[in-house]
Amino acid sequence: MSVLLTLLAALIATGACAYHRTSLRTWAIATALATVVVGVLAGAPVTTVILLIIVAVIAVPLLMPAFRRRQISAPLLKIFAKVTPKLSDTEQTALEAGTVGFEGELFSGKPDWHELLKQPKPELSVEEQAFLDGPVEQLCSMIDDWQITHELGDLPPEVWEFIKKNKFFGMIIPKQYGGLQFSALAHSAVLQKLATMSATVASTVAVPNSLGPAELLLHYGSDEQKNFYLPRLAVGEEIPCFALTGPYAGSDATSLTDYGVVCKQMVDGVETLGIRLTFDKRYITLAPVATVVGLAFRMYDPDHLLGDKEDLGITLALLPRSTPGLEIGRRHYPLNIPFQNGPVHGKDVFAPLTTLIGGPHMAGHGWRMLVECLSVGRAISLPSNATGGVRMAVAATGAYARMRKQFGLAVARFEGVEEALARIGGLTYATAALSRATAAAVDRGEKPAVPSAIAKYHATEWGRVVAGDSMDVHGGKGVQLGPKNYAGRAWQGVPIAITVEGANIMTRSLMIFGQGAIRCHPYVLKEMQSLSIADYGDRLKAFDRALFGHIGFGISNAVRAFTLGITGSAIGDAAGDAYTRRYYRKLNRYSAALALCADVFMGVLGGKLKFKEKLSARLGDVLSYLYIASAMLKRYEDTGRPEADRPLLAWAFHECVWRMQMALDGAIRNFPVKPVGWLLRVLVFPFGRREVPPSDRLGRRVAAIITAPGEARDRLTEWAYLTPSANNTVGRMNALLPDVIAAEPVERKFLKAQKTGQFTSHEYNDQLLEAVKAGVIADGEAALLKRVREGTFEFISVDDFDPKELRAAVVRSESAPKGLADAA
Ligand SMILES: Cc1cc2nc3c(=O)[nH]c(=O)nc-3n(C[C@H](O)[C@H](O)[C@H](O)COP(=O)(O)OP(=O)(O)OC[C@H]3O[C@@H](n4cnc5c(N)ncnc54)[C@H](O)[C@@H]3O)c2cc1C
Repeated sequence: MSVLLTLLAALIATGACAYHRTSLRTWAIATALATVVVGVLAGAPVTTVILLIIVAVIAVPLLMPAFRRRQISAPLLKIFAKVTPKLSDTEQTALEAGTVGFEGELFSGKPDWHELLKQPKPELSVEEQAFLDGPVEQLCSMIDDWQITHELGDLPPEVWEFIKKNKFFGMIIPKQYGGLQFSALAHSAVLQKLATMSATVASTVAVPNSLGPAELLLHYGSDEQKNFYLPRLAVGEEIPCFALTGPYAGSDATSLTDYGVVCKQMVDGVETLGIRLTFDKRYITLAPVATVVGLAFRMYDPDHLLGDKEDLGITLALLPRSTPGLEIGRRHYPLNIPFQNGPVHGKDVFAPLTTLIGGPHMAGHGWRMLVECLSVGRAISLPSNATGGVRMAVAATGAYARMRKQFGLAVARFEGVEEALARIGGLTYATAALSRATAAAVDRGEKPAVPSAIAKYHATEWGRVVAGDSMDVHGGKGVQLGPKNYAGRAWQGVPIAITVEGANIMTRSLMIFGQGAIRCHPYVLKEMQSLSIADYGDRLKAFDRALFGHIGFGISNAVRAFTLGITGSAIGDAAGDAYTRRYYRKLNRYSAALALCADVFMGVLGGKLKFKEKLSARLGDVLSYLYIASAMLKRYEDTGRPEADRPLLAWAFHECVWRMQMALDGAIRNFPVKPVGWLLRVLVFPFGRREVPPSDRLGRRVAAIITAPGEARDRLTEWAYLTPSANNTVGRMNALLPDVIAAEPVERKFLKAQKTGQFTSHEYNDQLLEAVKAGVIADGEAALLKRVREGTFEFISVDDFDPKELRAAVVRSESAPKGLADAA
């Protein structure tokens, strides 16, 4: 017994030190003290001495840095250098680009929640809010998405003009160049609002404000290029596109086969140094109407006109549309969402060296330029468009499910529909928080490489789920396209968002964990970077520091994951209020579990993990759900902990945690070295999988929120265009919703009477009169029912067409309105 007590004391001291990440010295002192005190009191001198020897054997050599480096780190450095896969230049560039924000804390196994909560609450400036309430609201009122998607296959000229005149293309351009210089949050809000009305308009506006000529010029352009292009881009005098993708270069954009050879050519009688370009690009957004084309190509200088190097690498140029030989103007047709998108070709097109972005000295730096800028655009464009889409799905589906009656009830009342409504509400809460968090990161000056991939992937995936649920709830109303259909086009367009700016399968499988593990891990990048230190002494010192930090980190995470697992995340420091504290604690547990698994996976599989995409994707999922859950908690705090939002937060949180658990479980279950997997299972899931998805009861509360007006619903539909204007069916539906709800008890009385067969008429309005006469309902109640029935009829109606109107190749009359592309 005395032996056991002494061992236990040593173990508890060790565990407590590992849990709290004390220094090695503190561990040695604490463990020795605990052993001596308990050993003496309990009367176990031999055990005490043995334990003290063990502590000394571990601590003494490790606390002598010179000895430790020579005897332990030096041989390990040799092995590490041998097994570490050499990073390609492309991978190196990707890793070096971007910054690490709160996602680093999530990867640490011990997140400092105060770091998250002290971040300023993201808010729009007065000027930005005025832009949303003014030009954005006005633009939304001009949008007729059926006209755009079916009749014109383009935006009407007045919409193009309005967009340009009001500088929608200049949101990221500084005021000194005539742009709007908006915050990322405002940029996101504008896109979200536009996306609630038209995916075509939102995509058109998103592209010039994302990675493309403006962004590249801002960072790398020469003064001359900035002064010429930026003011023209800000007011839409120039329309930009950026051409990277080609038939052989899709997800692996670095494999582009487009090339430019440095040469001299006579231009207007003057011998000019330039590049002869041959390129074949496709899928390029805005290309058909672009006036300036950003072009990525591989540059060669075989005649050494610029210097010694022959293969200069990926380079970026800006070609005016008027460049002789530039073939541009044809269109692709992306899933009936007719934003301008098309191919760009050229063979032996001559472009002077002055067209290179940043000038000749930037030749060969194209890939770095792209990767450095990628995260900012990716954090905003697609996540914002998807968020606008899901916000509108809440407004539309919530109202429709309350209006559409079957079996004598609003369809929202059926549990099956309720399940879909709960998903729409819960995922919208999560998506909106995620989108806001990444925009806020950009506004704090971060280049959020990992969060932008998380936001791109999850916002668009959840956009796909929500669009599908919305269609299911709408039934035939969602399927029949026409001016009255507000759901079908959003659903049709979802795969576009899934594909662009890093197709989703690749984003999940390769990028989120791949970049996250190395970038966010407190030691891995340091260990890798130590290999490139030229001086051996410095290299060994840097490696030694990172290695022993890493070992302590791994032990701590194992102890934390196990301790938080056996206590059901019931202990430990946590932020939040009485309601959310348990949420923070749960995230502490999964953060430790992720950090532990990441280390073990990387340690055992090494470079092979890169090819084990199914494992890496699952660990990426855990990091993603940790990030999303943190974003939701931050949002909850920023909005003043509103009680009304709790069902939404709870639903989305449980969904995230449940998914986290399943992803971790899948990764551990499929780990190829089985004994390691078994050990991880004991540490991470000591009592098995205990998390459950959101309950049916919680789902009912979420469905109730999105089907009735209220403050929580207002926050979910923030920035959605809900003005009940003639072009906005969803806005008008929402305006009628209070009446629909007020009419429900009246309708119940009326239907009860109707079932008794007491009405002689078969006409609804006549039956209402009979009901009033029979005292079943009052006069005013009959008027309400009539108003609601007439109002809702418009919303449950669908379109029909003359067969001629639907012929595939419609020959439009000359008088039909024309889009900009017709004129181009
Ligand atoms: C509507 C639209 C607009 C676009 N706009 C532009 C633009 O303006 N400018 C521009 O330059 N490009 C643009 N693109 C290109 C877009 O960015 C690419 O389509 C995208 O990068 C994917 O390339 P791909 O379609 O050739 O797919 P592929 O590369 O052929 O990929 C096919 C599938 O394989 C998966 N995959 C590929 N590699 C991996 C991997 N290592 N691990 C796991 N999965 C993998 C992908 O996720 C995808 O699911 C646009 C594309 C579309 C459809």
